[in-house]
Amino acid sequence: MTTCSMFELTDEQRALRDTIREFAEAEIAPHAAEWDERHVFPTETIRQLGELGAMGVAFPEEYGGLGAGAVAQAVVVEELARIDSSVAVTVGANASIAGEPILLFGTEEQKQRWLVPLARGEHIGAFASTEPGGGSDVRAATTVARREDGCWVLNGAKAFTTNAGTDLSAFCIVTARTEADGGGALSTLIVPTGTPGYEPQKPYRKLGWHASDTRELVFADCRVPDDAVLGPLGKGARVFLTALDGGRIGVAAMSVGLAQGALEQAMAYAKERIAFGAPIARQQAIHFKLADLKTQIEAARLLTYRAAALKEAGQPITEAAAVAKLFASEVAVRAAEENLQIHGGFGYIEESPVPRFYRDAKVLTIGEGTSEILKYVIARQMDLIA
Ligand SMILES: Cc1cc2nc3c(=O)[nH]c(=O)nc-3n(C[C@H](O)[C@H](O)[C@H](O)COP(=O)(O)OP(=O)(O)OC[C@H]3O[C@@H](n4cnc5c(N)ncnc54)[C@H](O)[C@@H]3O)c2cc1C
Repeated sequence: MTTCSMFELTDEQRALRDTIREFAEAEIAPHAAEWDERHVFPTETIRQLGELGAMGVAFPEEYGGLGAGAVAQAVVVEELARIDSSVAVTVGANASIAGEPILLFGTEEQKQRWLVPLARGEHIGAFASTEPGGGSDVRAATTVARREDGCWVLNGAKAFTTNAGTDLSAFCIVTARTEADGGGALSTLIVPTGTPGYEPQKPYRKLGWHASDTRELVFADCRVPDDAVLGPLGKGARVFLTALDGGRIGVAAMSVGLAQGALEQAMAYAKERIAFGAPIARQQAIHFKLADLKTQIEAARLLTYRAAALKEAGQPITEAAAVAKLFASEVAVRAAEENLQIHGGFGYIEESPVPRFYRDAKVLTIGEGTSEILKYVIARQMDLIA
């Protein structure tokens, strides 16, 4: 575990950042356009990232991770998103909403079975809470787990599940109403992907994140044993909301990385594109945009590292994670749009990463809590509402 000054990365964090940056530039950048165009999930690249330790950055070494802490985890996700948001969300969601709940709430047996291979990059996991009927209202979930012969039998459907249907996907944590607990309260269950009745549907055709796996899941009499329950029975909302706090730091890190990548693309183009006899970067309308973006990205990065540093220190993170995710995701959308604007007509043509970054940015203000919901979370932390 590293200690982190909030303003400067440690030598260890910088070394990890450089390793991932080098890998992303050499092994991901040359393929990102093709994966995006063909909607390919890059299985081999995710395996290679596993070999580099990128799938288990913050998990303790005893559970197969690097033990490098939450700031290092954010830095890794940021570096990946600077090049390819699809790879970043695959890695980020795997660690934060699939691995982290098992670390925090799992039994020793669950950790050995699911977390250790996840942290080593041998398999990936998913977390399914959102349903076709709604995502923001977590407690309105209708998927049911019925108790039968010492097992739980799941029926229902989940929408927009990341990492649930790839060759590497081994399990999905599912929120469901467990009828036997007396109140039909939510619980979380770990469902192995090969279980009969676990039915991943065809991947969605998404606006962006084309190379990440997102599907609807159907559960049709899907039977899992008693020890599939993760955390206390009837306390699934707590498991989910705790996972979401960490997940929001991940989305904030993705946002910072995407915004940084967009800024670098815009700067390079603004220095080389000539209009009215000079590089467009000389125009105040252009360099003010770039200066504004730099300022906003620096602020988003500090908010993100601060939330991660608080997590690393074992402090409460609900407010810090929501603030970081709200701000950073809005900055990412702005950066992607300004990048496209600065590229003029070429920004609209699928021959550079510019339109891909534009399409990939928008979901950042939606996943793991929309901007509207995050304002409720922050207002509640401010004691403005119950
Ligand atoms: C690519 C992708 C990947 C995803 N991956 C996962 C995943 O792995 N696991 C998972 O569980 N989910 C996942 N999601 C789902 C995501 O978390 C939800 O889409 C999100 O939480 C919003 O839920 P919803 O889409 O049902 O919108 P709704 O909850 O129906 O909201 C619709 C709109 O109404 C607004 N709204 C809702 N309630 C209020 C309110 N009280 N006040 C003000 N405005 C409100 C929302 O902000 C939004 O603008 C993913 C989504 C996408 C697009």
